[in-house]
Amino acid sequence: MAKRFAHARRGALAAAAITAVCVVLLVGLLIYDATSGRNAAVRSTTAMATVVTAKVWGPAGEQTAQDVLDRITALDEDCLSAYADTSDVYRINHAAGNPVKVNSYTYNLLVELLDIVRQTNGAFDPTIGALTALWDIGGPDERIPDDGEITAALGAVGWDKLHLADGNVQICKGQLLDLGAVGKGAACDAVHTVLEEDEARSAVISVGGSLLLYGENPEGDDWSVGVRDPRGGSNDRLGTLSIGADLCVSTSGDYERFFEQDGVRYCHILDPATGRPADSGLISVTIISPSGLLSDALSTACFVLGYERSLPVLGLFEGTQALFVTADRTVYVTPGLEGRFTLTADGYTMGAE
Ligand code: ADP
Ligand code: MG
Repeated sequence: MAKRFAHARRGALAAAAITAVCVVLLVGLLIYDATSGRNAAVRSTTAMATVVTAKVWGPAGEQTAQDVLDRITALDEDCLSAYADTSDVYRINHAAGNPVKVNSYTYNLLVELLDIVRQTNGAFDPTIGALTALWDIGGPDERIPDDGEITAALGAVGWDKLHLADGNVQICKGQLLDLGAVGKGAACDAVHTVLEEDEARSAVISVGGSLLLYGENPEGDDWSVGVRDPRGGSNDRLGTLSIGADLCVSTSGDYERFFEQDGVRYCHILDPATGRPADSGLISVTIISPSGLLSDALSTACFVLGYERSLPVLGLFEGTQALFVTADRTVYVTPGLEGRFTLTADGYTMGAE
């Protein structure tokens, strides 16, 4: 009994010693953090139906990270969500046929999006909602619709049926807005003001498949961004991109949401020209741009357009670079990314331009 007691006491002492060492280490880390500011504050939440993570270096790190998450949550609830009845998109969709007064943010965003629709020759189209609802890829009702259903849904797709005037937005009956292709990138842009106000030095904000690299990498080098292997698991990398300050990176791929039937993969990015899942020979596209909105919209548009047809479109957007992965596992990069991508996955080759 006494022996057991002594044994337990020794255990308790050892535990106390370990705890003391941990506390010293922790305090040391906190002091290091406060003085050098090298360590980042990291906070995560779920918003926009995805995981949002804010990693911030700066004088008010924890608070800034929380402010970033709050800003993105508010943006979703007030403006972009298709499901929250408080949001502009929800109200527009539920008042089809009638004008809806929206936040100036939403109005200006839609004005910008219509430009991108034109510049991408309609490959990106935020009025695609009736089609995405019909296919419901990744949802409980996913299925291959028949030709008649696709033709009917296509009749409700088209930016020319979306009316913007004096802060009001009106879609036609049967039409549905779907900002799923741009919300995450738009969120990356919206947090710039938060980071500036809080005087953050650097930050990495990740919103699903979109990433903002704010400021310089505190380690001194360029930012290193892993690109997912489109045919690997969620942690498998195709390779690594080396990226400068104040850029956004978005990836669209056919692995995010899809189903397979009779050996054919049906993915969640639809071609507004055919009403069917994009079939352009690409399996993933990554876009790097100073604008989160553009990186997100163009990753979806280029996925629809395919490699060859994307190049002239990308030429319209200064400072925008792209990495394409084709179904035959060739990786192409635009000239600004030459020497900035290291391919590490087996089974892929770099293509000559
Ligand atoms: P993810 O949302 O998986 O990161 P994307 O940014 O490419 O990928 O967005 C895909 C989403 O955009 C789809 O789930 C759908 O809601 C919507 N969408 C699909 N095709 C188009 C398209 N051609 N234009 C605009 N939005 C689209
Ligand atoms: Mg996108």
